[in-house]
Amino acid sequence: MTTIADLREQVRGPVMESSDDGYDEHRLVHNGMHDRRPALIVRAAATADAVAVVNYAREAGLDLAIRGGGHSVPGYGTCDGGVVLDLSPMNNVFVDRAKRTARSGGGATWGDFNHATHAYGLATTGGIISTTGVAGLTLGGGIGYLARGCGLSCDNLVSAEVVTADGRILVASEYENEDLFWALRGGSGNFGVVTSLELALHDVGTIYGGPMFFEVADAPAVMRAYDDYIQEAPEQLGAFFAWQTAPPLPFIPEDRHGDKFCVMVTCWSGRPEQGEQMIKPFRDAAQVKAELVGPMPYPALNSAFDALAPKGTRQYWKADFVRDLSDEAIAAHVEHGPRVPTLPSTMHVYSINGAAGRVGPEESAFSHRDARYAMVIAGFWPDPADDEAVIRWVRDYYAAVHPYSGTQGGYVNFMSGDDAERAPENYGTTYDRLRAVKATYDPGNLFHMNQNVAPA
Ligand SMILES: Cc1cc2nc3c(=O)[nH]c(=O)nc-3n(C[C@H](O)[C@H](O)[C@H](O)COP(=O)(O)OP(=O)(O)OC[C@H]3O[C@@H](n4cnc5c(N)ncnc54)[C@H](O)[C@@H]3O)c2cc1C
Repeated sequence: MTTIADLREQVRGPVMESSDDGYDEHRLVHNGMHDRRPALIVRAAATADAVAVVNYAREAGLDLAIRGGGHSVPGYGTCDGGVVLDLSPMNNVFVDRAKRTARSGGGATWGDFNHATHAYGLATTGGIISTTGVAGLTLGGGIGYLARGCGLSCDNLVSAEVVTADGRILVASEYENEDLFWALRGGSGNFGVVTSLELALHDVGTIYGGPMFFEVADAPAVMRAYDDYIQEAPEQLGAFFAWQTAPPLPFIPEDRHGDKFCVMVTCWSGRPEQGEQMIKPFRDAAQVKAELVGPMPYPALNSAFDALAPKGTRQYWKADFVRDLSDEAIAAHVEHGPRVPTLPSTMHVYSINGAAGRVGPEESAFSHRDARYAMVIAGFWPDPADDEAVIRWVRDYYAAVHPYSGTQGGYVNFMSGDDAERAPENYGTTYDRLRAVKATYDPGNLFHMNQNVAPA
């Protein structure tokens, strides 16, 4: 039996018990609601460390939490009494200009990734903020500004290095371990520790876009314009609808700080000079009251909202895929959205048609290809005294809009812990095959701290 002392010898990264320096900092994840105390935290320096930790946790029969960027809302990147494998030191990103791919360490964030690729005028689909992990976001699907033009993040996965539950190091790609490769593209962290990911890159350097704020009274017109336009809009246009309490920023008139607005956030990744024409249908929908729209480096837009949700912010979310934005759905949004209870809380409707929608529902584990939107009601708040009020707002809002979604499932990466029983609907038509692949690579369900797929 391997002891903790043996493990310290086997790995290069720091191994922390509760009495060690840094333990309190590293046991915490992004969602401040999770105050958990793992028995051991290992900050991996290399794939070999991941192998040692997987073997240790399996032999000791301990819970194993794999942490990439640490942004899981249910806090799957930490645990009580088990082992945390924190991959965040493995954050190198190497660009292969000739192949137009980048290889990212299993603990890199989108900020790390964009920083490396932007120097070459290249990017791939990441999320809408830069602090989320490349691995966790890609493995669950990956929805962001570039999804209509470049596909989901997981559609851009070319290969991955994976440490499986039995401690083997495998490569998964179109040519090797194809079933594992299929499962990694939407099946979340169920199949092993992904120590590196190779992602396809696209010509995206300077984009045109940013947030446009409209009056709440104009929300029905703005949502309807969004729904009408985004179905056929050129695919290099990414856009999402949001509710937002105006933060005290210079581009918003001072007397409107703290007021509620609805917002369209756009990202045109074609030629910047075409950008105004591309977002005109939103300007035509209603009068813009404040905006921060223009040409900017893609990483600037990708990090523009980071400050709204710093580490430690409390979070509770609910989510659905959405087929159509019916008038009834819009009415329910307009009733609940403007009641948004805290400044960072929001609701986003992301468009996932275009390139993301053209992938077949069984081609990868991410099956909800016929949904036009992914919707998330995201409660963010700093003060525990607001827990009840914010959670109630999220649940009431969700109960009002869910009947109009036209689908039972939601995006696994937007789920809170109390939605774990929705896994079959959330994975959708690929769930049974995911269970079979899980039985091949992780029959004992060592990797269970995730949106879990039970082995068949
Ligand atoms: C503020 C915020 C903004 C977000 N914005 C977006 C967005 O725009 N688009 C979007 O699609 N999603 C978004 N998300 C959701 C995000 O995709 C998920 O929270 C995702 O799981 C985060 O990945 P992570 O690596 O940061 O998290 P972690 O908590 O580290 O991991 C999350 C899950 O992935 C697994 N995992 C992580 N890394 C690895 C690895 N290397 N190998 C194996 N398994 C791993 C973990 O075990 C866990 O189950 C956002 C989340 C937050 C909190």
